[in-house]
Amino acid sequence: MSASVTAEPHLPEASMHLVMPNDPVTATVVSSERCTRSRSASFVRHIAIDVGGTPLEGRFLAGQSFGVVPTGTDAHGKPHKVRLYSIASPSYGEDGHGRVLSTTCKRLIDERTPGADGRSGLFLGVCSNYLCDLAPGDRVMVSGPAGKRFLLPVDRDAHDYLFLATGTGIAPFRGMIHELLAGPPEGSRARESWTGPCRSRIHLVMGTPYSTDLLYDGWLRELQAHHPNFTYHPVISREALPKPGWGPHAHHYVAGRMDEFAPMLRSDRTLMYMCGLAGMQIGLFRSIAAAGLAGGFLSIHEEISAMDPSQWTDEQIKRRIRPTHRCMLEVY
Ligand code: NAP
Repeated sequence: MSASVTAEPHLPEASMHLVMPNDPVTATVVSSERCTRSRSASFVRHIAIDVGGTPLEGRFLAGQSFGVVPTGTDAHGKPHKVRLYSIASPSYGEDGHGRVLSTTCKRLIDERTPGADGRSGLFLGVCSNYLCDLAPGDRVMVSGPAGKRFLLPVDRDAHDYLFLATGTGIAPFRGMIHELLAGPPEGSRARESWTGPCRSRIHLVMGTPYSTDLLYDGWLRELQAHHPNFTYHPVISREALPKPGWGPHAHHYVAGRMDEFAPMLRSDRTLMYMCGLAGMQIGLFRSIAAAGLAGGFLSIHEEISAMDPSQWTDEQIKRRIRPTHRCMLEVY
């Protein structure tokens, strides 16, 4: 572990928009596997796509996203627009040669609100179902990459990592943790220059409704068993409710274990990454500020800095708090 205290992360230069959405390139699906642990009510797939020979080859980074353009036309007869998906592979790709990227895709399955005739009906998300229906060998139009801030720092050992995810928000962390701990496959080009697992502290807090919805769970548990510096914290919201219909959520989990997380939150080495639902950011900002541990991660406007953080409204948090360079957000 590097002894130097590095407050500001030095991020790599990320390639952006090498392929524009209005001129996508053809890639090929390599594999598509369910990534829930067992019989989940939701359908989430880990989909690997070969971008070899396209401008994306070797030019994407864990934490970036790429575009998928589904075939067919929308309700107005126009070609479907691009949808962005988080890259779930490490920067060296699934293959260690930067040719195969991956994503974590959840089928959007919903019910339409009843129309004038009182009928509801099934709504299927266009791109998520298109992507999840693809089989190995199928062609898919892709663009990207996009995103230049939600990235691992250049000097991995100079920082500790707190990753917080809800649901498919785990996608970028699957790639980052792969890169930090698992490393490139044996025999790959990237393996030749790999210096071994990162020895920094790494915590992953992962929130899902049911334990059957946990993603990459077996792989994460295995990594935890082999890397004492890695702690995996699954947080299940709907199985044992303290109050009907209420959490616990990822940020409640951290708030409830502030003693355990405080040393990391106090340390200048720590980088915090959040990906998933925006409510997690709101809740976590409140609880780390209430514990007096927000200093390195948040810049709080004077208008609310003297207030009790538990009294901050969601609006105030959105408008009056800015994340520092040590706090990376991808929340919706
Ligand atoms: P999911 O499986 O439904 O799990 C969501 C979990 O978050 C549940 O445990 C849920 O608890 C909890 N939750 C609900 N409201 C919360 C709040 N206010 N604060 C904290 N936790 C809360 O998740 P999903 O369907 O995959 O959705 C994940 C979200 O991440 C989607 O909105 C997706 O667009 C986004 N995402 C973003 C990116 C990106 O930015 N790059 C990448 C991937 C996914 P309850 O049981 O109480 O509902």
